Amino acid sequence: MAPVDPHSYTDGAHPVVSRAALAFYLDFAASTIHASALLTLSAPHSGDLLLDTRALAVHSASTDADTPEPIPFSLAAAADPVLGTALTLTLPPDTVSFRLTFSTSPAASALQWLAPPQTASAQPFVFSQCQSIHARSIFPCHDTPAARITFSLLLNVPEQLSAVASARHVARRDPLPSDHRGACDDELWCAPGRIVEEFQMEQSVPPYLFAFAAGGIGSRDLGPRTRVYAEGGDKVLDEAAREFAGVEEMVKVGEGLFGPYEWERFDLLVLPPSFPYGGMENPRMVFLTPTVIKGDAAGAQVVAHELAHSWTGNLITNKTNEDFWLNEVSGLTLLLVWSLSAFTLQSVVFLKIQCGSLYGMFHTVSYIPYYVEYLTLLLAYQPIGTACCSSKPACVSCSL
Ligand SMILES: [Zn+2]
Repeated sequence: MAPVDPHSYTDGAHPVVSRAALAFYLDFAASTIHASALLTLSAPHSGDLLLDTRALAVHSASTDADTPEPIPFSLAAAADPVLGTALTLTLPPDTVSFRLTFSTSPAASALQWLAPPQTASAQPFVFSQCQSIHARSIFPCHDTPAARITFSLLLNVPEQLSAVASARHVARRDPLPSDHRGACDDELWCAPGRIVEEFQMEQSVPPYLFAFAAGGIGSRDLGPRTRVYAEGGDKVLDEAAREFAGVEEMVKVGEGLFGPYEWERFDLLVLPPSFPYGGMENPRMVFLTPTVIKGDAAGAQVVAHELAHSWTGNLITNKTNEDFWLNEVSGLTLLLVWSLSAFTLQSVVFLKIQCGSLYGMFHTVSYIPYYVEYLTLLLAYQPIGTACCSSKPACVSCSL
């Protein structure tokens, strides 16, 4: 075995998953997802393949054929407290893609399920937070940033709910028996009162940027490529729209500094108060705590930081889970946050925090070469920044 990341079972001697077609039946009563995944490898492979999982119940593995054949698989007998549980598949010769069915645990580390009394909309709500190594608790994957994936996602939810994801929204439609590839039986998938929200993500992302949420979610347009989503009705949406009215202008400033915005849309989701972070830079759909809505546009500082990650982190990504510090303290993130936050005139405290991180990082002298290389790569990317990251191999391979 050739480990590539101390926080993943990914074997560097094998190809990695490069495409995931996911179908999720969201069972709010059981805080569980019944799921299937059609996973495609970056190259044909035979024999053992290791995937990361955590607290997943894996039900089946099979070939991707008109008449699927079972694939032998096993979960490690004991879960590592950090890494989770390795899933070992024994693939037939020259396998390119294969199917899995599985269920998440109610205690999945990436998921938070809220009962109606815990939400402003009095509807159930679920959201994900995969950074840094929690995607493996939603679906088996190579949960290391260098293993970028494109994905499709079907979310089967009660029809009174709606869903968002870090992906392009394709359709809201009736469930079809052909959708789920064994995630659950047809009767459950196509039961009355259920709908499917369909998403596609054709720009490759590290697994930690996979994200979705479902609940009583509404939205307000902010600009031609920006929209804010929130649960809680018109009052919350109106307040959020006022707080983030300058977001479209922020994106333009970012483009002026660092080249075109590559992710097409920059939408915001204001989550219920239990969201454990200030913000999370999920591409196309930044997740935000509701505490950023103060009525004085100061929440724009957090949005500026997450927008900065559209370039530093989401386009150019640290190679292993050990090096997330590169995303957070890169000088260009600092510069961009400073530039964008200037619109709010509220940036002094935020800048002091960022500068403190930078100061502390430079005390660890051994990190300096990595930091310099990261900035060099980022700067080198800019003159050709009009290429989409998924179509520009250098963007993927230039991870440190
Ligand atoms: Zn950040």
